[in-house]
Amino acid sequence: MTGFVCESVGFRYPTADGWITALSEVSLEARGHEIVSVVGPSGCGKTTLLKLVAGLLQPTSGSIRFTPGENGDRPRNALVFQDHGVFPWLKVVDNVAFGLEMQGVGPAERRARAMEFLQRIGLADFADRHPHELSVGMRQRVGIARAYVSQHPILLLDEPFGALDAQTRLLLQEELLGIWQEDQKLALFVTHDIEEAILLGDRVLVMSGRPGTVVEEIPVPLPRPRALAAPDRPEITEVKWHIWRHLEKEARRQLSIPG
Ligand code: ADP
Ligand code: MG
Repeated sequence: MTGFVCESVGFRYPTADGWITALSEVSLEARGHEIVSVVGPSGCGKTTLLKLVAGLLQPTSGSIRFTPGENGDRPRNALVFQDHGVFPWLKVVDNVAFGLEMQGVGPAERRARAMEFLQRIGLADFADRHPHELSVGMRQRVGIARAYVSQHPILLLDEPFGALDAQTRLLLQEELLGIWQEDQKLALFVTHDIEEAILLGDRVLVMSGRPGTVVEEIPVPLPRPRALAAPDRPEITEVKWHIWRHLEKEARRQLSIPG
């Protein structure tokens, strides 16, 4: 089963003024077809954690072990960022096909697979447009489409809906849930939004302020497929406030609000 284990992972950035410890003693396990939400205050090292899992950074302490894929290699992953995720000079269809190009899939098949996915999510009419002709929300859908079309077993999402207005965000959350339901992958979903973490995740990992570490893991008591109305259920409200109590202190500190 695809998965990975982080064991006491730490990460420090070298800066002109010395080291900044972004993550300390992060231990977590993710495998199979689950969505693991990671929620934490801004600056606690969420993006750093995703980059470590993606292999873009190497832990400065501890280790990350992957369950090998079918060919014995480290399983591949697709990353979706909050912004800058699509290439402005590429058409929508080529943006979606980009991951396949990296895998050596030929141009005709790339285009066919990208078009098929665009069709499925209702973006086919925009295939030949460039990202600047699309709304921010549509651009994020292109980023998610690219990640899905690449067919990598691990999906890493870094606040993909963080820059969107509330209504757009609801629709995109619902869309992602629908896509995932049809083609389930292991996903690490990073967000600073507690409700979003609950709505999407099978469990929520709560991180402390910097240096970030996982302070609690909370299972989400919601069945799948999920409906958007679910967060109104009382047990969800309870989970939400429970997580907020973890994050409140750090949020107040950052804003200098006593409490
Ligand atoms: P988050 O995604 O949770 O907001 P990040 O992982 O981006 O947090 O950053 C964690 C901490 O590391 C922050 O304090 C940030 O300022 C610092 N940091 C991030 N990237 C760098 C870098 N390239 N050089 C130095 N410090 C960095
Ligand atoms: Mg971040």
